[in-house]
Amino acid sequence: MSRAAIVGAGPAGFYAAEQLLAAGDAVDLYDALPTPFGLVRAGVAPDHPKIKSVTRIYEKTAARDDFRFFGNVEVGADVSREELLARYDAIVYAVGTALDNRMGVPGEDRPGSVPATEFVAWYNGHPGFADRQFDLSADRAVVVGNGNVAIDVARMLVLGDDELAPTDTADHALDSFAGSGVREVVILGRRGPAQASFTNPELRELGELQRADVAVDPAALDAVTGTEDLTPTAQRNVEILREYAQREPSGKSHRIVLLFLRSPLEVAGDGENGAVAGLRVSVNELDAGGRPVPTEREELIPCGLVVRAIGYRGRPIAGVPFDATRGLIPNDGGRVTGPDGEPLPGEYAVGWVKRGPSGVIGTNKKDAAETTARLVEDRDAGRLNRPSEESSPDAIEAWLRERVPGVVSWGGWQRIDAYEAAAGKTAGRTRRKVVRIPEMLTLAEAEGESEWPPIATTRA
Ligand SMILES: Cc1cc2nc3c(=O)[nH]c(=O)nc-3n(C[C@H](O)[C@H](O)[C@H](O)COP(=O)(O)OP(=O)(O)OC[C@H]3O[C@@H](n4cnc5c(N)ncnc54)[C@H](O)[C@@H]3O)c2cc1C
Repeated sequence: MSRAAIVGAGPAGFYAAEQLLAAGDAVDLYDALPTPFGLVRAGVAPDHPKIKSVTRIYEKTAARDDFRFFGNVEVGADVSREELLARYDAIVYAVGTALDNRMGVPGEDRPGSVPATEFVAWYNGHPGFADRQFDLSADRAVVVGNGNVAIDVARMLVLGDDELAPTDTADHALDSFAGSGVREVVILGRRGPAQASFTNPELRELGELQRADVAVDPAALDAVTGTEDLTPTAQRNVEILREYAQREPSGKSHRIVLLFLRSPLEVAGDGENGAVAGLRVSVNELDAGGRPVPTEREELIPCGLVVRAIGYRGRPIAGVPFDATRGLIPNDGGRVTGPDGEPLPGEYAVGWVKRGPSGVIGTNKKDAAETTARLVEDRDAGRLNRPSEESSPDAIEAWLRERVPGVVSWGGWQRIDAYEAAAGKTAGRTRRKVVRIPEMLTLAEAEGESEWPPIATTRA
């Protein structure tokens, strides 16, 4: 039996854990947050509770023998890669891609121009973003990007209070959305309808919103000539968009506009440090390869909020190889590779930080299977890392608890979870999230208490 430290308790970390346990190995699953589940908790939109219920599968993994959760431990900050290598036969990096791609245009850092990573984390109650404030007073917002994250952000901006109220949207975000002045959200794509990365159900959902009409410029569809070379998903997207382009507005109070063939040129505002007042864009054409080429035409879209949802990048961990161009941990089928391209003994990558930020939750299961097969192959060939310190389960836990204050066990997370579920039930919601780490730790440590400790984060 080998013992692996899996770093990151998102889908990729949990699938890797499940597979290693099935192969007879032991797993310690670390996460920087006191709470598990990665983007399932902090990314997936709150109005999609069915998708979030995938966590039930991860709970089954956590209930297995030889599984331990060490939450509130950031690898690279609280403990180092070298400390883990001194104690484990293998490390599996499943840290996801926490940073956003930038548009690279002037004015990008003006107040009101924000990455989707932060906006999404804020409405989902990620403790790192609970104190962020977003000015939602303007009547138009622009979301840059043509993937599902852009759709999520646009949808969240037009959902009504009654639609958000039963969800696990963070309380601070519910308050802000309730006072929002946003009436129109423009989703901006630099390429055409046929090149968008939306998936069909998400795009279709935009046409079924309670209080928002959807609009598409028919000219963008006229430019799509022939769809026979497209993937079935892209073909279906074009059909859905054609139907949207023919729709008459039904007089709903809000509107989502899908605007294609536009690239950001500048986030305009009042003076160099002034807040966002608009987005200047070029009007593009597509070349024969489907790439956007700017024409001489430019437009200014007046708006008060610009959210960029144009992809993610990993955050480097001290001492762990990192491909700064791709924003990933370099690897060969999951084996982390060093500067010479050779695998490093006992170090593996999985999930978004291995292959990039694409694919749905389930994609990470297949991805984990590739990585864990390599690990098991290396284990059987005697090629794993050789710990230099005492590496029994008890010795590792004793070291960690002395080294890092406030480590959260699976039992600790279950107490946070039970509190959130109970608070949600009282309010008729799926869950009310605790959004501050000290309060999470209070709950995690409240073993055996018959009453909940007072938590001040949530609204009355
Ligand atoms: C906004 C958004 C919405 C999405 N919606 C859907 C959807 O509706 N349906 C769907 O199927 N897919 C959706 N996805 C995709 C899905 O969330 C991803 O496929 C999946 O979460 C990737 O898994 P991961 O484990 O690689 O990364 P993550 O889920 O990001 O997990 C990484 C984990 O690592 C932890 N971590 C990071 N650094 C460290 C460190 N140094 N030390 C310790 N821990 C660390 C993080 O806290 C986090 O828990 C969405 C993605 C986004 C961004």
